[in-house]
Amino acid sequence: MEKEKEMISVDDWKEGSQVYFLTHLHSDHTKGLSSNWKNGPLVCSPITAKLIPAKFPGFDLSLLKVFEIGPTYTLPLLSPFTGREIQVQVTLIDADHCPGAVMYLFRGDKFCCKLYTGDFRWEPTSERALLGKTRLLDALGNDKIDLLYLDNTYCNPLYSFPPREVIAKQIIDIIASHPEHDVVISVNTLGKEDLLVCISRALNIKIWVWPERLQTMHLLGFYDIFTTNTSLTRVRAVPSYSFSIDTLEKLNSRRPTIGILPSGLPWLVRGSDKNDYSCGSDKSNIAGQSAQAHKCNQVEGLSSCIKFDRFIYSLPYSDHSCFDELQEFIKLVQPLRLKGIVSSDSCNVDPRHYFGHLCKLDQVTEQPPKKLPRKVKPVVGCSKSGNLAIKRRKYMKFGSTRISRVSLLRRLRRGAKIIESFTAACSISDS
Ligand SMILES: [Zn+2]
Repeated sequence: MEKEKEMISVDDWKEGSQVYFLTHLHSDHTKGLSSNWKNGPLVCSPITAKLIPAKFPGFDLSLLKVFEIGPTYTLPLLSPFTGREIQVQVTLIDADHCPGAVMYLFRGDKFCCKLYTGDFRWEPTSERALLGKTRLLDALGNDKIDLLYLDNTYCNPLYSFPPREVIAKQIIDIIASHPEHDVVISVNTLGKEDLLVCISRALNIKIWVWPERLQTMHLLGFYDIFTTNTSLTRVRAVPSYSFSIDTLEKLNSRRPTIGILPSGLPWLVRGSDKNDYSCGSDKSNIAGQSAQAHKCNQVEGLSSCIKFDRFIYSLPYSDHSCFDELQEFIKLVQPLRLKGIVSSDSCNVDPRHYFGHLCKLDQVTEQPPKKLPRKVKPVVGCSKSGNLAIKRRKYMKFGSTRISRVSLLRRLRRGAKIIESFTAACSISDS
């Protein structure tokens, strides 16, 4: 059978699409993207475009299509069936995940309405999320989302995090209560800038970062807060791959040092009291737990903080939406259908399991969701050295058309002329 040519790919970099969309620059979304990129035009936000040359030196910038957050753009694409031009409308929505991260809303006469969230965090108290919500609803107008591709990283009721500003205050308190200690904070190559800025301002202290991270900070417009000079500060933001129990042990053999792990991982679960956060009920699931090293203790006075090692404080500062926030999001956008963008061996929580009933079609055209094991394994993985790791891969490719029967009928009822059939497929596989 002749392979159908796809029109659009999101965070998927295989050949064959007419236009490629990048939600953000975290490496699990850029596998296959490189400095030698030639497969086609790449759409991204202005901040992502600014960061691309640093991540991919020599990237052909003429291939970038930089779209602002907010306005709706129209892209002409060729129908793989008729060869005729069709129009696809694209709107970027702020995902509030890491710098440059966006959601994509796709619409068009012969193109289902689809929302691809990428990674996102929309907290109920966040002004950015409120603005994103308004923009999304404005862009949607009377359209309904046929298919929602959802960031299901924490799609389990066990994941319940306070807003990031609450956790940032707790992290500041921990650092302030250790005035004689060095502090190392685990961060990735992109993300958690707001946290670091918050710490710097509250404690009037510079933050050390490694040279490539300093370059990123400068590109993002932070010139005064960060330094690569270790003698100027006791607080260092270090790459997450170098943050481990072993590292903290070694650092403490020279100077008293605490580690801060700001992440939705390890696994947290809310107790009966809303403010009571403790480790997951199955403590064997805590990352790399070993009898001698990982003992979960809530830290007195800090309801969200877990001290799972002598020197490491773990706090659920998450750039992904937690379960309640995902639920609110789905209630807001009311999709007909729903698919998760995260998959892995240890974490494959099909969002339809929890949210299928909130979808208008209630997944009637889908196969019933896989039954989850009685105890869902947490997303936490950990190397022997104590580094946290999560295996996942997320992307979407769609283009050729075959609307589900129900969706087709609904669109016909609305007066749409369906000339082509339409399919949408979300390709998800383990990395
Ligand atoms: Zn991400």
